[in-house]
Amino acid sequence: MPIKQIKRFLFGPPRLSREEAMKVFKRDHFKCQYCGLEGMQSFENWLILTIDHVHPHARGGAHSMNNLVTACQPCNLIKGKREYKTLEDAKKHVLAKREEWQQRYQSQLKAGAAAAH
Ligand SMILES: [Zn+2]
Repeated sequence: MPIKQIKRFLFGPPRLSREEAMKVFKRDHFKCQYCGLEGMQSFENWLILTIDHVHPHARGGAHSMNNLVTACQPCNLIKGKREYKTLEDAKKHVLAKREEWQQRYQSQLKAGAAAAH
């Protein structure tokens, strides 16, 4: 068995190199392709930028530029390892979940305000 295959067997698929990741960030202008968060707006934003495999890597998605997009950590987490036909489908799901969580946040805010009175 060639070394490459043994490594893959032992350590899983190779990680994306920093250069490859940078290419994706630059193409996407350091902006989350799901929620539109601007990575260059602040250090905090920049810090949470990740690379997302539109077709999940765990399910055989390629390390190729057309399968990789810039995503902030929350969006990447929400998207998870689910399968989507297109980036648009994935985006719809992520944005719907974010909306759901925002409503939860709003109701917690209200509950907090009510408790303070
Ligand atoms: Zn995002």
